[in-house]
Amino acid sequence: MKTYSGHCHCGAVHFEVDTDLAAPFRCNCSLCARRGTTIQIVPATHFRLLSGEESLTRYGSREFSKHFFCRTCGIQCFTRLTVNLKLENEPSVGVNLGCLEGVDVGALKPATFDGAHLL
Ligand SMILES: [Zn+2]
Repeated sequence: MKTYSGHCHCGAVHFEVDTDLAAPFRCNCSLCARRGTTIQIVPATHFRLLSGEESLTRYGSREFSKHFFCRTCGIQCFTRLTVNLKLENEPSVGVNLGCLEGVDVGALKPATFDGAHLL
């Protein structure tokens, strides 16, 4: 487990996340397919928004997944979920791994999450 710093493109939104990057994935739902990000789910307690809350805007009408974007640069940094990937009611956060310092997203081997059919 390592602590990574993350931020949006313009730098308004900063966060930290504790993760071992053990389960990166890409999702094929209608939003993720367009966004094209590689994601890691972490327990909500492993994610800390450090600054930029006022710069965030939310997209999506589903209560179980709230996608947060920087309103200045448009980068979607993370998604707050009321469930984890096992669909248990444990709050979690889906982190856009492209936002993390020191992570080469291209070197990861993401699994595919079939969100198009599950969500
Ligand atoms: Zn930004």
